[in-house]
Amino acid sequence: MKKLFFPLAIVAIICISAGNPAKDYTGFNDASAKTQRSWEDKFDSLLHADEIGQFIKHLSAHPHHLGSAYDHENAEYILSKFKQWGYQARIDTFYALFPTPKLRVLETVGQPQFRAALKETPLKEDATSSQTSEQLPGYNCYSADGDVTSELVYVNWGVPADYEELASLGVDVKGKIVIARYGGSWRGIKPRLAQEHGAIGCIIYSDPKEDGYYQGDVYPTGAFKNETGVQRGSVLDIPLYPGDPLTPGYGDTKNAKRLDKKDATNLLKIPVLPISYADAKPFLQGLGGQVVPENWRGALPITYHTGPGPVKAHLKLEFNWDIKPIYDVIAMMKGSDQPDEWVIRGNHYDAWVNGANDPISGQAAMLEEAQAVGQLVKQGMHLSRSIVYCAWDGEEEGLLGSTEWSETNAAELQNKAVAYINSDVNGRGFLDIGGSHVLQTLSNEIAADVKDPEMNVSILERKRANEIIDAHGKEQKDLMANNIMKIDALGSGSDFSPFLQHLGIASINLGFGGEDNGGEYHSIFDSYDMYSRFKDPGFQYGVALAKTAGRFTLRLANAEVLPFNFHDFYKTLNEYTAELIKSVDEMRSNTETTNKLIKDKYYLLAADPTKTYIPPVVKEPVPYLDFSHLQNAIAALKTSVEQYRVAQDYTYTQPASVINKLNTMLCQTERKLLSDKGLPVRPWYKHAIYAPGYYTGYGVKTMPGLREAIENRDWKLAQEQEILIAKVISDYAANLDVATGVLNGK
Ligand SMILES: [Zn+2]
Repeated sequence: MKKLFFPLAIVAIICISAGNPAKDYTGFNDASAKTQRSWEDKFDSLLHADEIGQFIKHLSAHPHHLGSAYDHENAEYILSKFKQWGYQARIDTFYALFPTPKLRVLETVGQPQFRAALKETPLKEDATSSQTSEQLPGYNCYSADGDVTSELVYVNWGVPADYEELASLGVDVKGKIVIARYGGSWRGIKPRLAQEHGAIGCIIYSDPKEDGYYQGDVYPTGAFKNETGVQRGSVLDIPLYPGDPLTPGYGDTKNAKRLDKKDATNLLKIPVLPISYADAKPFLQGLGGQVVPENWRGALPITYHTGPGPVKAHLKLEFNWDIKPIYDVIAMMKGSDQPDEWVIRGNHYDAWVNGANDPISGQAAMLEEAQAVGQLVKQGMHLSRSIVYCAWDGEEEGLLGSTEWSETNAAELQNKAVAYINSDVNGRGFLDIGGSHVLQTLSNEIAADVKDPEMNVSILERKRANEIIDAHGKEQKDLMANNIMKIDALGSGSDFSPFLQHLGIASINLGFGGEDNGGEYHSIFDSYDMYSRFKDPGFQYGVALAKTAGRFTLRLANAEVLPFNFHDFYKTLNEYTAELIKSVDEMRSNTETTNKLIKDKYYLLAADPTKTYIPPVVKEPVPYLDFSHLQNAIAALKTSVEQYRVAQDYTYTQPASVINKLNTMLCQTERKLLSDKGLPVRPWYKHAIYAPGYYTGYGVKTMPGLREAIENRDWKLAQEQEILIAKVISDYAANLDVATGVLNGK
């Protein structure tokens, strides 16, 4: 008997052990898989590295931040290309709050006298770095205006654990200006936590340990950050809600009702400024107080102290709080059979400066992909569903273009979207992929089919080798034994977030990297000269991205049955639950130990009496939570998944009307993972399984409502969330049962 779907394990064994492309295309029957393969072979032959290089050169020729002249020129250029390739293309315009710097001062008060240069030095080796008049200077977008003077405190990354450490050292940041180094969390967490702890200003600098000479030779000799390089970036409270701060949950169209700026809850109240390590050094050198713990030390040639003071900083920032147009380029290739089922593929094109890597490397690969898809359609490829290409504007400020577009078109998208495929930065190295776990099998099949540009193996084999070599002990053995590439869960940090977490559209985010390390991120040195020397010389990984993302687009558009694997999702949920149960048990045991250590005065006796040391306080014991609702819901899901698997074995014999009905239902499955209320404190995030962490920013929290309640030791909320997630999973399983019923003629 022919099967449309192959059991997961068999697919994987074929992919891996044979070392050549999988014969099986989930969602296609044998004949249609053969046709699909031959079109994909043609597709590959239409992708050219030199064209990707030309796109990168053209689109990064000038600084092109939101609202700039060249940003608009790029939008028009991308639009004209899509039209030329046969797409119905248009620009959707929105209007967002976008502050840019009017005044930036950072200086010491008293001795030693120092005024930060706040300037990146252009290099003759980097042609576009001297376009100074078109560049936005180093700043954190959505910092508050402010004029503050105070002693300085060094807070390491500025994450919750660092404030606990400071408390134990007797250091309080209330009324102070903090200085944090980049890393350890998404940047927006640093000023928010500083503000929560009563600080009046925040400085973020790039330490050479993570981002400079400690990593390798600095630019232009090598790729790493030189002493004047600055990382720009948004500090909008994206974990609360992304998009225009003035229009939470709805599109910022021309006449949309806007909040007053003071009522936008994702805006900071304190000023924050990013600086280079050359500018940071005198401030850090001026700090006294205790020497910081070893893991707080960077790579500047100084002894790092916590402060406060004696050095005092004066930070003065003023911004132009303008409303700027956002130009989203939207291009549709209509499907012949199911034009109202949309496969959406996006990448942003706006940058902080020239942005050859972020985001043009991804944008260029997407354009090459779209060009090839256009040609295939002209050559007679039958496209079953519609493909919608989206070139987003305003991503850097807080996913503005994608969020406003998806909020404006929410109803239509929830009705029509099959999946959303995102990319962003791209460079030499290994496949980096995350997404909805129903797309894990498809991801494995596609990764097995794409050749790595550097080694004569698939990108799947290279990724697996990289993961196995990086792992140790049991984890390494498990990875070797398991033939499946697990995809990551998605947090935030690029344009998939509104589709997945607000609208419940199954999503994938992918790119290559790991061998392309450098210090250009969000600086004037993210340029064509830098990219073509260090990030992807020859642009072969641009081709690899176009091949990989293009396969997602084409297979989702042409599969007879949508290639969602529910077993993968069930297994992943089961793992998350086991992990949460274990984490509560560990927390309980650790709390008992710590409380005993406090009670028996171990902390005090181990401390140096000549230094300030404040031991931790006793914590409430960790109760036993009831995970049974979740465990029962997942057990029921397992049954539903198995019944669906049996039913789908006979899918190929079904009439088109049944398959169409099935696909309509499958489209909606991810939607069932949304909860009406959304997450506690941040209702914009509605997905019950995936969200960015409230205290990690980009980093994901799975089963976020429950996991964060546990981390915050809010046991009542944790129990409520456990029940809520169980209900969401039960509804999801019930929906799958209906799909099984459709296949069984009910
Ligand atoms: Zn980007």
